[in-house]
Amino acid sequence: MSIKSDRWQNLLSDDSLWKSYNEYVNKWEKSIGSFLQFDADKTKGDSSSDGLLKGMPFGVKDNIAVKGFDMTCGSKILENFNCPYTSTAVQKLQGAGAVVVGKMNMDEFGMGSSTDNSALGETNNPWDKSRVAGGSSGGSAASVAAGQVPFALGSDTGGSVRQPASFCGVYGLKPTYGTVSRYGLTAYASSLETIGICAESTAITRDVFNTMKGIDNMDNTTVDYKPSGKDDTEIIAVLKVGENDLSEDVLNSYRVSQQRLKDLGYKLIEVELPTLKYVVPAYYVIATAEASANLARFNGIRYGLAQKGAETPSDLMQMSRNSGFGDEVKLRILLGTYVLRSGFQDQYYHRAQKIRTAILNDFNRIFEEADALMLPVFPTAAFRHGSSDLTQLQQKAADLYTCSANLAGLPALAVPSTIEKGLPVGVQFTAPAFEEERLFRISEKLEEIFPAQKPEGFSEEWKI
Ligand code: GLN
Repeated sequence: MSIKSDRWQNLLSDDSLWKSYNEYVNKWEKSIGSFLQFDADKTKGDSSSDGLLKGMPFGVKDNIAVKGFDMTCGSKILENFNCPYTSTAVQKLQGAGAVVVGKMNMDEFGMGSSTDNSALGETNNPWDKSRVAGGSSGGSAASVAAGQVPFALGSDTGGSVRQPASFCGVYGLKPTYGTVSRYGLTAYASSLETIGICAESTAITRDVFNTMKGIDNMDNTTVDYKPSGKDDTEIIAVLKVGENDLSEDVLNSYRVSQQRLKDLGYKLIEVELPTLKYVVPAYYVIATAEASANLARFNGIRYGLAQKGAETPSDLMQMSRNSGFGDEVKLRILLGTYVLRSGFQDQYYHRAQKIRTAILNDFNRIFEEADALMLPVFPTAAFRHGSSDLTQLQQKAADLYTCSANLAGLPALAVPSTIEKGLPVGVQFTAPAFEEERLFRISEKLEEIFPAQKPEGFSEEWKI
Protein backbone atom coordinates (compact mmCIF):
# COMPACT_ATOMS: atom_id res chain seq x y z
CA MET A 1 0.00 0.00 0.00
CA SER A 2 1.26 3.40 -0.87
CA ILE A 3 0.35 6.88 0.28
CA LYS A 4 -2.24 8.88 -1.58
CA SER A 5 -0.18 11.79 -2.77
CA ASP A 6 -3.20 13.46 -4.42
CA ARG A 7 -3.82 15.22 -1.11
CA TRP A 8 -0.65 17.18 -1.79
CA GLN A 9 -0.42 17.24 -5.57
CA ASN A 10 -1.53 20.82 -6.09
CA LEU A 11 0.33 22.34 -3.18
CA LEU A 12 3.34 23.32 -5.28
CA SER A 13 1.44 24.99 -8.09
CA ASP A 14 -1.55 26.58 -6.36
CA ASP A 15 -0.68 29.90 -4.69
CA SER A 16 -3.82 30.17 -2.60
CA LEU A 17 -3.24 26.65 -1.29
CA TRP A 18 0.30 27.60 -0.23
CA LYS A 19 -1.12 30.65 1.48
CA SER A 20 -3.68 28.76 3.53
CA TYR A 21 -1.07 26.12 4.35
CA ASN A 22 1.26 28.83 5.66
CA GLU A 23 -1.53 30.29 7.77
CA TYR A 24 -2.32 26.94 9.33
CA VAL A 25 1.32 26.30 10.21
CA ASN A 26 1.73 29.77 11.72
CA LYS A 27 -1.41 29.45 13.80
CA TRP A 28 0.01 26.35 15.51
CA GLU A 29 3.49 27.86 15.74
CA LYS A 30 2.26 30.45 18.23
CA SER A 31 1.48 27.77 20.78
CA ILE A 32 3.95 24.95 20.06
CA GLY A 33 7.12 26.47 18.55
CA SER A 34 8.13 23.36 16.65
CA PHE A 35 10.11 25.21 13.94
CA LEU A 36 13.40 27.07 14.30
CA GLN A 37 12.92 28.33 10.74
CA PHE A 38 9.84 28.11 8.55
CA ASP A 39 10.00 29.14 4.92
CA ALA A 40 7.95 27.14 2.51
CA ASP A 41 9.43 28.98 -0.48
CA LYS A 42 13.13 28.66 0.25
CA THR A 43 13.82 25.29 -1.34
CA LYS A 44 10.66 24.68 -3.38
CA GLY A 45 12.72 24.82 -6.57
CA ASP A 46 15.01 21.99 -5.39
CA SER A 47 12.21 19.42 -5.42
CA SER A 48 11.21 17.36 -8.41
CA SER A 49 7.75 18.12 -9.75
CA ASP A 50 6.97 14.44 -9.87
CA GLY A 51 7.49 11.32 -7.75
CA LEU A 52 6.01 9.23 -4.98
CA LEU A 53 6.04 12.12 -2.48
CA LYS A 54 5.04 14.80 -4.96
CA GLY A 55 4.27 18.12 -3.30
CA MET A 56 4.45 16.75 0.21
CA PRO A 57 5.82 19.32 2.69
CA PHE A 58 8.21 18.06 5.36
CA GLY A 59 10.28 19.37 8.24
CA VAL A 60 13.93 18.56 8.89
CA LYS A 61 15.56 18.40 12.32
CA ASP A 62 18.06 21.19 12.60
CA ASN A 63 21.09 18.88 12.74
CA ILE A 64 20.48 17.70 9.16
CA ALA A 65 21.90 19.75 6.28
CA VAL A 66 19.58 21.52 3.84
CA LYS A 67 21.25 24.05 1.56
CA GLY A 68 19.69 27.49 1.88
CA PHE A 69 18.48 27.02 5.46
CA ASP A 70 20.57 27.59 8.57
CA MET A 71 21.72 24.51 10.49
CA THR A 72 22.03 25.35 14.18
CA CYS A 73 21.73 21.95 15.94
CA GLY A 74 19.80 23.93 18.58
CA SER A 75 23.10 25.51 19.68
CA LYS A 76 24.41 29.04 20.10
CA ILE A 77 27.72 27.86 18.70
CA LEU A 78 26.05 27.39 15.28
CA GLU A 79 23.46 30.17 15.47
CA ASN A 80 23.13 31.77 12.01
CA PHE A 81 25.33 29.12 10.37
CA ASN A 82 24.07 28.99 6.80
CA CYS A 83 24.29 25.48 5.43
CA PRO A 84 26.25 25.14 2.17
CA TYR A 85 25.06 21.66 1.13
CA THR A 86 22.17 19.20 1.36
CA SER A 87 22.26 15.82 3.11
CA THR A 88 21.81 12.69 1.00
CA ALA A 89 18.57 11.73 2.77
CA VAL A 90 16.97 15.11 2.03
CA GLN A 91 18.25 15.08 -1.56
CA LYS A 92 16.55 11.73 -2.10
CA LEU A 93 13.25 13.00 -0.69
CA GLN A 94 13.45 16.12 -2.85
CA GLY A 95 14.09 13.83 -5.81
CA ALA A 96 10.82 12.05 -5.00
CA GLY A 97 8.95 15.39 -5.01
CA ALA A 98 8.79 16.23 -1.28
CA VAL A 99 9.42 19.88 -0.27
CA VAL A 100 11.41 21.02 2.79
CA VAL A 101 9.38 23.71 4.56
CA GLY A 102 11.60 24.29 7.57
CA LYS A 103 14.02 23.25 10.26
CA MET A 104 12.78 21.73 13.49
CA ASN A 105 13.73 22.54 17.07
CA MET A 106 15.79 20.00 19.03
CA ASP A 107 17.85 19.45 22.17
CA GLU A 108 21.29 20.96 21.56
CA PHE A 109 23.26 18.51 19.36
CA GLY A 110 20.64 15.83 20.10
CA MET A 111 21.48 15.66 23.79
CA GLY A 112 18.29 15.31 25.77
CA SER A 113 14.78 13.91 25.97
CA SER A 114 12.67 17.07 26.15
CA THR A 115 13.85 19.69 23.59
CA ASP A 116 14.20 21.92 26.68
CA ASN A 117 17.98 21.70 26.08
CA SER A 118 17.61 23.77 22.90
CA ALA A 119 19.46 27.07 23.23
CA LEU A 120 17.23 28.64 20.60
CA GLY A 121 13.59 28.12 21.55
CA GLU A 122 11.00 26.18 23.51
CA THR A 123 8.76 23.53 21.96
CA ASN A 124 5.47 22.54 23.59
CA ASN A 125 3.52 19.34 23.25
CA PRO A 126 0.46 19.97 21.01
CA TRP A 127 -1.66 17.88 23.42
CA ASP A 128 -0.78 19.94 26.50
CA LYS A 129 1.32 23.11 26.15
CA SER A 130 2.67 22.82 29.69
CA ARG A 131 4.38 19.58 28.73
CA VAL A 132 7.38 18.74 26.59
CA ALA A 133 7.11 17.24 23.12
CA GLY A 134 9.94 14.89 24.04
CA GLY A 135 13.36 14.90 22.50
CA SER A 136 15.69 15.31 21.10
CA SER A 137 13.59 15.47 17.89
CA GLY A 138 10.76 17.28 19.73
CA GLY A 139 10.11 19.84 16.99
CA SER A 140 9.77 17.08 14.39
CA ALA A 141 7.24 15.06 16.41
CA ALA A 142 5.21 18.10 17.53
CA SER A 143 4.87 19.42 13.98
CA VAL A 144 3.55 16.09 12.71
CA ALA A 145 1.10 15.77 15.62
CA ALA A 146 -0.25 19.26 14.91
CA GLY A 147 -0.66 18.49 11.21
CA GLN A 148 1.85 21.18 10.18
CA VAL A 149 3.60 18.52 8.10
CA PRO A 150 2.70 14.91 7.28
CA PHE A 151 6.22 13.83 8.19
CA ALA A 152 9.47 15.23 9.52
CA LEU A 153 13.00 13.89 9.72
CA GLY A 154 14.66 13.43 13.07
CA SER A 155 17.77 11.66 14.26
CA ASP A 156 17.84 8.79 16.72
CA THR A 157 21.00 8.12 18.73
CA GLY A 158 19.32 6.71 21.83
CA GLY A 159 15.59 7.18 21.24
CA SER A 160 15.32 10.71 19.93
CA VAL A 161 12.77 9.88 17.24
CA ARG A 162 10.75 7.19 19.04
CA GLN A 163 10.37 8.94 22.41
CA PRO A 164 8.98 12.25 21.06
CA ALA A 165 6.82 10.30 18.58
CA SER A 166 5.32 8.45 21.53
CA PHE A 167 4.81 11.69 23.54
CA CYS A 168 3.03 13.36 20.61
CA GLY A 169 0.99 10.42 19.32
CA VAL A 170 2.67 9.84 15.94
CA TYR A 171 4.72 7.08 14.29
CA GLY A 172 8.49 7.15 14.85
CA LEU A 173 11.03 4.99 13.01
CA LYS A 174 14.66 4.41 13.87
CA PRO A 175 15.95 2.44 10.87
CA THR A 176 18.58 -0.32 10.93
CA TYR A 177 22.03 1.26 11.43
CA GLY A 178 23.66 2.04 8.10
CA THR A 179 20.55 1.84 5.91
CA VAL A 180 20.04 5.62 5.61
CA SER A 181 23.07 7.73 4.77
CA ARG A 182 24.33 9.99 7.55
CA TYR A 183 26.02 12.33 5.06
CA GLY A 184 24.83 15.75 6.18
CA LEU A 185 23.77 14.64 9.68
CA THR A 186 25.81 16.51 12.29
CA ALA A 187 27.56 13.78 14.26
CA TYR A 188 26.79 13.31 17.95
CA ALA A 189 27.55 9.60 18.55
CA SER A 190 28.39 8.15 15.15
CA SER A 191 28.25 4.44 15.96
CA LEU A 192 24.74 4.71 17.42
CA GLU A 193 22.83 7.17 15.32
CA THR A 194 20.58 7.09 12.31
CA ILE A 195 18.35 9.59 10.55
CA GLY A 196 14.77 8.64 11.44
CA ILE A 197 11.19 9.55 10.58
CA CYS A 198 8.23 10.99 12.48
CA ALA A 199 5.05 10.56 10.45
CA GLU A 200 1.28 10.68 10.71
CA SER A 201 0.78 7.15 9.34
CA THR A 202 2.57 3.85 8.82
CA ALA A 203 2.19 4.21 5.05
CA ILE A 204 4.02 7.54 4.97
CA THR A 205 6.74 6.17 7.27
CA ARG A 206 7.29 3.26 4.89
CA ASP A 207 7.40 5.37 1.72
CA VAL A 208 9.79 7.89 3.26
CA PHE A 209 12.06 5.13 4.55
CA ASN A 210 12.11 3.31 1.22
CA THR A 211 12.92 6.57 -0.57
CA MET A 212 15.82 7.43 1.77
CA LYS A 213 17.53 4.08 2.21
CA GLY A 214 20.48 2.81 0.18
CA ILE A 215 24.23 2.82 -0.16
CA ASP A 216 25.83 6.24 -0.41
CA ASN A 217 29.42 6.85 -1.47
CA MET A 218 29.49 9.84 0.85
CA ASP A 219 28.92 7.64 3.93
CA ASN A 220 31.05 4.51 4.09
CA THR A 221 28.99 3.07 6.97
CA THR A 222 26.01 2.60 4.66
CA VAL A 223 25.28 -1.07 3.99
CA ASP A 224 23.62 -3.23 1.41
CA TYR A 225 19.95 -3.68 2.33
CA LYS A 226 19.27 -7.38 2.67
CA PRO A 227 16.00 -8.32 4.37
CA SER A 228 15.19 -12.01 4.83
CA GLY A 229 12.00 -11.78 2.79
CA LYS A 230 9.93 -12.94 5.75
CA ASP A 231 7.76 -9.86 6.10
CA ASP A 232 4.85 -11.33 8.02
CA THR A 233 4.96 -12.02 11.70
CA GLU A 234 3.49 -14.96 13.59
CA ILE A 235 5.22 -14.75 16.93
CA ILE A 236 5.83 -11.55 18.89
CA ALA A 237 7.99 -11.60 22.00
CA VAL A 238 6.71 -9.24 24.68
CA LEU A 239 9.19 -7.77 27.14
CA LYS A 240 8.09 -8.59 30.67
CA VAL A 241 7.71 -5.44 32.75
CA GLY A 242 7.22 -5.13 36.50
CA GLU A 243 4.49 -3.06 38.21
CA ASN A 244 7.03 -0.38 39.13
CA ASP A 245 8.88 -0.17 35.83
CA LEU A 246 6.29 2.01 34.14
CA SER A 247 3.84 4.70 35.22
CA GLU A 248 0.29 3.44 35.69
CA ASP A 249 -0.81 5.05 32.42
CA VAL A 250 1.99 3.56 30.37
CA LEU A 251 1.52 0.14 31.96
CA ASN A 252 -2.17 0.25 31.12
CA SER A 253 -1.40 1.27 27.55
CA TYR A 254 1.18 -1.53 27.23
CA ARG A 255 -1.43 -4.07 28.31
CA VAL A 256 -4.00 -2.71 25.84
CA SER A 257 -1.53 -3.11 22.96
CA GLN A 258 -0.73 -6.62 24.11
CA GLN A 259 -4.44 -7.53 24.08
CA ARG A 260 -4.89 -6.06 20.61
CA LEU A 261 -2.02 -8.17 19.27
CA LYS A 262 -3.67 -11.26 20.74
CA ASP A 263 -6.98 -10.30 19.16
CA LEU A 264 -5.20 -9.90 15.82
CA GLY A 265 -4.09 -13.53 16.09
CA TYR A 266 -0.39 -13.11 16.86
CA LYS A 267 1.18 -15.66 19.16
CA LEU A 268 2.75 -13.81 22.09
CA ILE A 269 5.59 -15.08 24.26
CA GLU A 270 6.80 -13.23 27.33
CA VAL A 271 10.58 -12.66 27.44
CA GLU A 272 13.18 -10.95 29.58
CA LEU A 273 16.25 -9.00 28.49
CA PRO A 274 18.83 -9.74 31.18
CA THR A 275 21.19 -7.08 29.80
CA LEU A 276 18.58 -4.31 30.07
CA LYS A 277 20.06 -2.99 33.31
CA TYR A 278 23.40 -2.32 31.60
CA VAL A 279 21.91 -0.48 28.64
CA VAL A 280 21.90 3.06 30.06
CA PRO A 281 25.43 2.99 31.53
CA ALA A 282 26.84 1.46 28.32
CA TYR A 283 24.95 3.97 26.18
CA TYR A 284 26.13 7.02 28.12
CA VAL A 285 29.75 5.86 28.12
CA ILE A 286 29.79 5.27 24.37
CA ALA A 287 27.64 8.28 23.45
CA THR A 288 29.65 10.76 25.53
CA ALA A 289 33.00 9.32 24.39
CA GLU A 290 32.00 9.73 20.75
CA ALA A 291 30.47 13.15 21.40
CA SER A 292 33.68 14.43 22.99
CA ALA A 293 35.55 13.55 19.79
CA ASN A 294 32.82 14.69 17.35
CA LEU A 295 32.26 18.06 19.00
CA ALA A 296 35.96 18.92 18.93
CA ARG A 297 35.36 20.40 15.47
CA PHE A 298 33.43 23.31 17.00
CA ASN A 299 36.43 25.34 17.98
CA GLY A 300 35.48 28.93 17.17
CA ILE A 301 37.75 28.89 14.13
CA ARG A 302 36.20 26.73 11.47
CA TYR A 303 32.45 27.18 11.95
CA GLY A 304 29.93 29.26 13.78
CA LEU A 305 30.52 31.43 16.80
CA ALA A 306 33.92 33.10 17.13
CA GLN A 307 33.98 35.01 20.39
CA LYS A 308 35.37 38.55 20.10
CA GLY A 309 38.29 39.78 22.20
CA ALA A 310 40.50 36.69 22.17
CA GLU A 311 44.22 37.28 21.98
CA THR A 312 45.46 33.79 21.10
CA PRO A 313 43.95 30.86 19.15
CA SER A 314 43.59 28.85 22.33
CA ASP A 315 41.79 31.77 24.02
CA LEU A 316 39.49 31.99 21.03
CA MET A 317 38.68 28.30 21.30
CA GLN A 318 38.11 28.41 25.03
CA MET A 319 35.94 31.53 24.93
CA SER A 320 33.86 30.36 21.97
CA ARG A 321 33.21 26.92 23.43
CA ASN A 322 32.50 28.36 26.84
CA SER A 323 29.84 30.76 25.61
CA GLY A 324 28.64 28.67 22.63
CA PHE A 325 27.87 25.32 24.30
CA GLY A 326 25.06 24.82 26.81
CA ASP A 327 25.47 23.05 30.17
CA GLU A 328 24.30 19.61 29.04
CA VAL A 329 26.72 19.63 26.10
CA LYS A 330 29.60 20.69 28.35
CA LEU A 331 28.70 17.97 30.84
CA ARG A 332 28.78 15.31 28.13
CA ILE A 333 32.06 16.49 26.61
CA LEU A 334 33.60 16.33 30.08
CA LEU A 335 32.18 12.88 30.75
CA GLY A 336 33.35 11.63 27.37
CA THR A 337 36.84 12.99 27.93
CA TYR A 338 36.87 11.36 31.36
CA VAL A 339 35.92 7.88 30.12
CA LEU A 340 38.49 8.05 27.31
CA ARG A 341 41.39 9.39 29.38
CA SER A 342 44.62 7.51 29.00
CA GLY A 343 44.93 4.38 31.11
CA PHE A 344 41.21 4.10 31.85
CA GLN A 345 39.81 2.95 28.52
CA ASP A 346 39.49 -0.69 29.61
CA GLN A 347 37.50 0.33 32.65
CA TYR A 348 34.85 2.29 30.73
CA TYR A 349 34.85 2.40 26.94
CA HIS A 350 36.03 -1.14 26.22
CA ARG A 351 33.77 -2.56 28.90
CA ALA A 352 30.82 -0.71 27.39
CA GLN A 353 31.67 -2.20 24.00
CA LYS A 354 31.57 -5.69 25.52
CA ILE A 355 28.17 -4.95 27.02
CA ARG A 356 27.07 -3.83 23.60
CA THR A 357 27.90 -7.26 22.18
CA ALA A 358 26.06 -8.93 25.07
CA ILE A 359 22.95 -6.82 24.33
CA LEU A 360 23.00 -7.87 20.68
CA ASN A 361 23.32 -11.51 21.77
CA ASP A 362 20.30 -11.04 24.02
CA PHE A 363 18.22 -9.76 21.09
CA ASN A 364 19.48 -12.51 18.78
CA ARG A 365 18.42 -15.14 21.29
CA ILE A 366 14.90 -13.66 21.34
CA PHE A 367 14.76 -13.53 17.53
CA GLU A 368 15.48 -17.24 17.35
CA GLU A 369 12.04 -17.76 18.84
CA ALA A 370 10.10 -14.70 17.72
CA ASP A 371 9.78 -12.52 14.60
CA ALA A 372 9.59 -9.23 16.49
CA LEU A 373 9.81 -7.88 20.02
CA MET A 374 7.37 -5.51 21.70
CA LEU A 375 8.63 -3.23 24.45
CA PRO A 376 7.67 0.11 26.00
CA VAL A 377 9.06 3.34 24.55
CA PHE A 378 9.48 5.37 27.75
CA PRO A 379 8.34 4.76 31.34
CA THR A 380 6.06 7.83 31.41
CA ALA A 381 3.85 9.90 29.13
CA ALA A 382 4.97 13.46 28.22
CA PHE A 383 6.31 15.18 31.35
CA ARG A 384 6.12 18.86 32.36
CA HIS A 385 8.75 21.37 31.24
CA GLY A 386 11.71 21.71 33.58
CA SER A 387 12.65 19.06 36.11
CA SER A 388 9.57 19.00 38.36
CA ASP A 389 8.37 15.64 36.97
CA LEU A 390 11.72 14.15 35.93
CA THR A 391 15.22 15.47 36.61
CA GLN A 392 17.84 15.35 33.82
CA LEU A 393 19.34 12.27 35.51
CA GLN A 394 15.94 10.53 35.71
CA GLN A 395 15.37 11.37 32.06
CA LYS A 396 18.64 9.62 31.19
CA ALA A 397 17.77 6.54 33.25
CA ALA A 398 14.46 6.39 31.38
CA ASP A 399 16.24 5.86 28.04
CA LEU A 400 16.67 2.11 28.70
CA TYR A 401 13.90 0.88 26.40
CA THR A 402 15.03 2.95 23.43
CA CYS A 403 18.87 2.93 23.59
CA SER A 404 19.00 -0.85 23.43
CA ALA A 405 18.09 -0.81 19.71
CA ASN A 406 20.80 1.79 19.03
CA LEU A 407 23.45 -0.27 20.82
CA ALA A 408 22.41 -3.32 18.78
CA GLY A 409 21.91 -1.41 15.48
CA LEU A 410 18.38 -2.78 15.07
CA PRO A 411 15.32 -1.16 13.49
CA ALA A 412 12.64 0.02 15.93
CA LEU A 413 9.26 1.67 15.46
CA ALA A 414 7.14 3.60 17.95
CA VAL A 415 3.43 3.17 17.26
CA PRO A 416 0.57 5.14 18.89
CA SER A 417 -1.11 2.88 21.44
CA THR A 418 -3.67 4.77 23.56
CA ILE A 419 -4.60 8.17 24.97
CA GLU A 420 -4.21 8.22 28.76
CA LYS A 421 -5.64 11.19 30.68
CA GLY A 422 -5.47 13.33 27.56
CA LEU A 423 -1.90 12.35 26.61
CA PRO A 424 -0.81 9.96 23.88
CA VAL A 425 1.26 6.89 24.75
CA GLY A 426 3.13 4.77 22.23
CA VAL A 427 4.46 1.24 22.16
CA GLN A 428 7.65 0.03 20.51
CA PHE A 429 8.49 -2.85 18.18
CA THR A 430 11.92 -4.03 17.15
CA ALA A 431 13.04 -6.77 14.78
CA PRO A 432 16.26 -8.18 13.31
CA ALA A 433 18.34 -5.88 11.08
CA PHE A 434 16.71 -4.98 7.72
CA GLU A 435 13.25 -6.18 8.81
CA GLU A 436 11.60 -2.74 8.72
CA GLU A 437 8.80 -4.12 6.55
CA ARG A 438 7.93 -6.58 9.30
CA LEU A 439 7.53 -3.65 11.70
CA PHE A 440 5.39 -1.71 9.21
CA ARG A 441 3.02 -4.67 8.80
CA ILE A 442 2.47 -5.04 12.53
CA SER A 443 1.99 -1.29 12.81
CA GLU A 444 -0.52 -1.17 9.97
CA LYS A 445 -2.68 -3.80 11.64
CA LEU A 446 -2.65 -1.87 14.89
CA GLU A 447 -3.37 1.35 12.98
CA GLU A 448 -6.58 -0.14 11.64
CA ILE A 449 -7.77 -0.68 15.21
CA PHE A 450 -6.33 2.54 16.63
CA PRO A 451 -5.31 5.23 14.10
CA ALA A 452 -3.17 8.13 15.34
CA GLN A 453 -5.44 10.48 17.31
CA LYS A 454 -5.35 14.26 16.80
CA PRO A 455 -4.93 16.97 19.45
CA GLU A 456 -7.56 19.69 19.86
CA GLY A 457 -7.03 22.41 17.28
CA PHE A 458 -5.95 19.96 14.59
CA SER A 459 -7.83 20.70 11.44
CA GLU A 460 -7.56 20.36 7.75
CA GLU A 461 -8.92 23.84 7.19
CA TRP A 462 -6.28 24.56 4.58
CA LYS A 463 -7.90 21.66 2.72
CA ILE A 464 -5.24 20.08 0.62
N1 GLN B 1 17.91 10.94 25.44
C1 GLN B 1 19.04 10.47 24.70
C2 GLN B 1 20.22 11.37 24.97
O1 GLN B 1 20.03 12.36 25.58
C3 GLN B 1 18.68 10.40 23.27
C4 GLN B 1 19.46 11.23 22.34
C5 GLN B 1 19.25 10.97 20.89
O2 GLN B 1 18.71 9.95 20.45
N2 GLN B 1 19.79 11.90 20.09
O3 GLN B 1 21.33 11.12 24.59
